[in-house]
Amino acid sequence: MDSLTVLVPVYNEEAVIDEFYRRTVAVCESLDRTQFEILFVDDGSSDKSCDIISGLIAKDPRLSLLRLSRNFGKEAALTAGLDHVDADAIVIIDADLQDPPELILDMLALWKKGYDTVYGQRTERHGESFVKKLTASAFYRLMAHVGRFSIPRDTGDFRLLSRRAVNALRCLPESNRFMKGLFSWIGYPQIALQYSRDPRHAGETKFNYWKLWNFALDGITSFTTIPLKLASYIGVFLAFGSFVYGAYVIVKTLIWGDPVPGYPSLMTVILFIGGIQLMFLGVLGEYLGRMFDETKRRPLYLIQEHVRGSDFRGSVSA
Ligand code: UDP
Ligand code: MG
Repeated sequence: MDSLTVLVPVYNEEAVIDEFYRRTVAVCESLDRTQFEILFVDDGSSDKSCDIISGLIAKDPRLSLLRLSRNFGKEAALTAGLDHVDADAIVIIDADLQDPPELILDMLALWKKGYDTVYGQRTERHGESFVKKLTASAFYRLMAHVGRFSIPRDTGDFRLLSRRAVNALRCLPESNRFMKGLFSWIGYPQIALQYSRDPRHAGETKFNYWKLWNFALDGITSFTTIPLKLASYIGVFLAFGSFVYGAYVIVKTLIWGDPVPGYPSLMTVILFIGGIQLMFLGVLGEYLGRMFDETKRRPLYLIQEHVRGSDFRGSVSA
């Protein structure tokens, strides 16, 4: 008999949990010879999400809840969940029903064929703004060019992982957890499952553009040092350009004399070089700041309680 854990990060999702539970349990119950568990990771919700989940657990022993001590972010919530599962197959799914739970059946079918990762790939993204689609597409294109391995386009965290894949993920200790990148980094046989992404069932997205921008920076800086190299190349290019221009100025002065023109060009060049220097100081800063985070070696999350429906041991503090 196979075991399946459905891992759900939850942050202020009171409006969708009941419906999510209803649909997901219906899917899981239709599986034969598979024992399942739904693990909610509460990422410090401040609404009634926790109460609703606790209420469900009291009725259904196949659920459990891992409560983090505060809001650590989705990546940390997923890490916490993955550290607490030991099923043969693990499905990560958002609570907001943007990823249809019905697809879990197809994912399991592919897993049985021997794939370690079955990732949902969005063919359409309903209910997302034009700007979000555009920025997302630009990000994937950029990552495809700069990464040492490719992150599949239009994939999110909705995916099935084998136990082997989860064990591999647990070995990655970094605190900048750009999960999409880590999922690809581990390798193993992977396959895409195409689906069209629904709009949110209820509630609002937790990711605004500022968060997404920082998320993209995390992705780029955790998986490539190309921005750093760019500084060297642009530096070489500018130095070479300056050398050629300098030679031209010397020759010109020797031939025609020097009537001291050129204030505008001088200003332009100084400001331009100054801008480039500041920009790359910023790039250095991005990497340095992340190194600072890594060297602190802080835990990625803290657990407030772990409520298991199956054994009714109640709250176990970690
Ligand atoms: N989420 C989380 N912690 C956060 C933000 C979000 O656990 O700090 C969860 C959220 O509850 C949801 C999933 O991550 O289950 C995806 O969030 P959302 O739907 O807001 O993101 P989007 O689909 O808009 O990218
Ligand atoms: Mg969503």
